[in-house]
Amino acid sequence: MPTFLGCIADDFTGATDLAGLLARSGVQVSLRIGVPQTAPADAAAVEVIALKCRTAPVAEAVAESRAALDWLRRAGAERFFWKYCSTFDSTAEGNIGPVAEALMADLGCAQTIYCPAFPENGRTIFMGNLFVGRQPLAESPMKDHPLTPMRDSNLMRLLQPQVTGRVGLADRLCVARGAGALRDELAALAQAGVAHVVVDAVANADLEVIAEACRDRVLITGGSALAMPLPTLYRATGRLTGAANGPVRPDLPRAAIVLSGSCSAMTHAQVARYIATGAPSLRLDPLVLATSGPGPALDWLAAQDLDRAPILYATAEPAAVRAAQDRLGRDRVGAIVEAALAACAVAARDAGARRFVVAGGETSGAVTQALGVDRLQIGREIAPGVPWTWCESGGYPIALALKSGNFGAASFFSDAMEAA
Ligand code: ADP
Repeated sequence: MPTFLGCIADDFTGATDLAGLLARSGVQVSLRIGVPQTAPADAAAVEVIALKCRTAPVAEAVAESRAALDWLRRAGAERFFWKYCSTFDSTAEGNIGPVAEALMADLGCAQTIYCPAFPENGRTIFMGNLFVGRQPLAESPMKDHPLTPMRDSNLMRLLQPQVTGRVGLADRLCVARGAGALRDELAALAQAGVAHVVVDAVANADLEVIAEACRDRVLITGGSALAMPLPTLYRATGRLTGAANGPVRPDLPRAAIVLSGSCSAMTHAQVARYIATGAPSLRLDPLVLATSGPGPALDWLAAQDLDRAPILYATAEPAAVRAAQDRLGRDRVGAIVEAALAACAVAARDAGARRFVVAGGETSGAVTQALGVDRLQIGREIAPGVPWTWCESGGYPIALALKSGNFGAASFFSDAMEAA
């Protein structure tokens, strides 16, 4: 069966989040890590390609996304979704806008929409301003993100410097009038030369209106929640067929590990709650890692009972993150932490761990790459946007839960172990 919907995600947790929400509709979803090196074979109705390009240099992010698009087109895809974070994580240079413009050019689209809203996780957009719970984005903990500090809440202002075309807004008042009204508004904006339209959404019902209005568009961009209604809409037109993935959960040994490189506010609470359950824990200090390498952490890990699902975490308060960045540089400290956690993941697998819970988008990218995983099947959701996934690493079947920074409840790590 050829692919109908092809998705490109800018980080790995974002890709599993998207795949999990798409799979809710019962459609067959396959997730590839990186652009597959081989020609499409055994493609699913919905294919998601996970890139690690959120903070990559713009030219690299654009090149990777275009390569992903090319692979998806060869798999037969006719509709495309560019997925980024529900907090619009990006630097002033990009990469959300530049990638969207490159995909638009390749697909011949004069206009696309931007809607990162994820109401189930408290991300909403009103008058073009993004909220995290009740706080504007720039007042939320995202202002202190180690790699993509978000210091403006207005999506038009964030997007305009990233694109060459004009940016506009279809607001909530328009969305409230329904799919027809939104379609008319997008057409009017296109007439006025607006290529990039931010669309407001405060509830799942708004996302359904937007998805319906944009159902026939070749390219949509947004957060995972906007993609959720698409399979059902495509099915209604007979364009998408095929059964769900079916039961894929392998019977895995208990041995597990938790690796946290996320410094997001919710991850802090999750790490603290998990340690309080009595799980063995080790904090990784980037300044110590920079001088001693991951050796001491690996020694600690080798002495642990993996059946107790120990946790290794670099999760730290904003002041500690800034201090480490001032000493080592932002990119270097990130890379050092990611490399250490990735080395721990491989060591844990070799010692028998078969369930891995990873917190942090960039961190998940590093861990997944180190484990040599290239394709994931989507299993049960632990929390909105965080499914268990099943794959193979080093010849062993393993389960991976990749959690983006602020997702999940405070009890997430224990929830994941119970749901495994
Ligand atoms: P999130 O999903 O919360 O955004 P990410 O893994 O994407 O998490 O990003 C967190 C980044 O912060 C990673 O690059 C990670 O290596 C880095 N990091 C983790 N701990 C620290 C620390 N203590 N000091 C500085 N940077 C850190």
